[in-house]
Amino acid sequence: MDRFSQQTAKGYKDLRFDGGLEQEFREYFYRRGLLRQRAAIALGVLLLLVLAPLDLPKLSPELKNIYLWSRIYTACPVLVLAFGLTYYLHRFKGLFQLAAVLIVLYVGMAQSIVVLLANRTQVIMPYEGINLIIMTSFLLAGMLHRYALFCNGTLIVGHLVIAKWLGTPVSPHQEFFMVGHFVVGATGGYIIEFNSRRSFLQRGMMSALAQTDALTGIYNRGAINHKLERIFNYAHREQIAVSLLLADIDYFKRYNDLYGHLEGDRCIQAVASAFAASCRRPLDFAGRYGGEEFVLVWLNTSATEAASLRDGVEQRIRSLHITHKGSDVSSEVTISGGLVTGYPGKSHTPADFLKAADDGLYKAKAAGRNQIVLITL
Ligand code: GH3
Ligand code: MG
Ligand code: MG
Repeated sequence: MDRFSQQTAKGYKDLRFDGGLEQEFREYFYRRGLLRQRAAIALGVLLLLVLAPLDLPKLSPELKNIYLWSRIYTACPVLVLAFGLTYYLHRFKGLFQLAAVLIVLYVGMAQSIVVLLANRTQVIMPYEGINLIIMTSFLLAGMLHRYALFCNGTLIVGHLVIAKWLGTPVSPHQEFFMVGHFVVGATGGYIIEFNSRRSFLQRGMMSALAQTDALTGIYNRGAINHKLERIFNYAHREQIAVSLLLADIDYFKRYNDLYGHLEGDRCIQAVASAFAASCRRPLDFAGRYGGEEFVLVWLNTSATEAASLRDGVEQRIRSLHITHKGSDVSSEVTISGGLVTGYPGKSHTPADFLKAADDGLYKAKAAGRNQIVLITL
């Protein structure tokens, strides 16, 4: 089972995935939330600018100063800067969440302080901006739900603590509406992130399914070609050698004839598992090239190591101990193959490796089967 299906089966009601999947999801989530995030920032700047001419005439010179500094001279430029930085998200990624938390806390706290200071001196200034900040940060800011919960919880508690400290009364209605917005925003935010996680997992499962051979669970031919292309580009850039094995089961037609197609399928599955187990590093991979032919790719191997790779594969196939009475070379199932090692480059493409491996496979069959021919490109 692929890791996307595993996570789906395990569930994620606490909005957290296991291990590396969480990191991958976050990058997907940030990218997907980008448009909403820009909208939230633009909305923030717009509101700050629109409200200023309405609020300022009512305020005392001292409060005016605090208002201008907290909103127009600091919050606005910070938001504009954040808007610009969303275009360089790939460089900041994790930092972006922290920045969102700090910006929401700053804008929210500044709003609370100005409103509470004004209200203390009997100047009517609506507190509802905080409700807007709560909803925006839950639903639009592209914040992970856990961060939005922390931010908005802090804002509400902060508002009430500052009110008490300043001696500004906060009506039960205000408290009720703030908590109400928190509950509605938190519920909406949870649903947004939960659905986002679900579609991330579904995409992963679909792509895993499209790359997998249905009988064996290893990569199918399309995925092999795709992965070869990527690995060869990488190996070329890094000047790393690659080994590629093309292998074919010996006398398999006879195996089918003797034991039936179903047993034949089981044999192919067992051989596929043996190949998959021969991968050593994360980028190594095994795939089913067709019928009873397989491809195995190891990265970062030398020509001298190739011999030990060959021995390892042969050992794993031997240890399957699948009886094959129709074989001329052994009493058990064996394979033949061509194992090519070389440095990928313009004249050493995946097609060149496959062609050379096929030549090796042909030689192995001609030389009596049950062997892997080594080739250095
Ligand atoms: P050689 O030693 O020369 O490879 O002889 P061979 O009989 O294995 O010849 P070949 O590789 O051409 O035979 C492939 C056979 O594999 C033919 C086909 O019936 C069988 N085969 C291909 N795909 C499947 C499959 O999915 N299941 C089963 N059971 N058999 C398959
Ligand atoms: Mg065969
Ligand atoms: Mg074949």
